[in-house]
Amino acid sequence: MIDKAQLSEKLSEQITLTEKKIVGFEEMSAPVTPDDAIGRISRMDAINNKAVQEAALSKAREKLTKLKVMQANLDDPKLGLCKRCGRPIPTGRLLLMPESAFCVRCSR
Ligand SMILES: [Zn+2]
Repeated sequence: MIDKAQLSEKLSEQITLTEKKIVGFEEMSAPVTPDDAIGRISRMDAINNKAVQEAALSKAREKLTKLKVMQANLDDPKLGLCKRCGRPIPTGRLLLMPESAFCVRCSR
């Protein structure tokens, strides 16, 4: 059985965390202006970092959406159960990979 109370609590935690992360990424991926008093190499670095941060940002946004969907579906009796074998998926795995619909065994 899935401990829904625990899952709900952990979900809220993860949502708060992910939201904070998104704010952080948004601040870091502010546009790189040519006026910045940095050399060409560090500007390249800044641009590379920006790409990395933008990727991380979109990933975090995606995760947030999935977490919220899961939170909205907490009452669904099938939530947290493997779509293939019907066994409960551990809460830790659910939170780490909210997009995962299968247990560890079935996802291999
Ligand atoms: Zn399974």
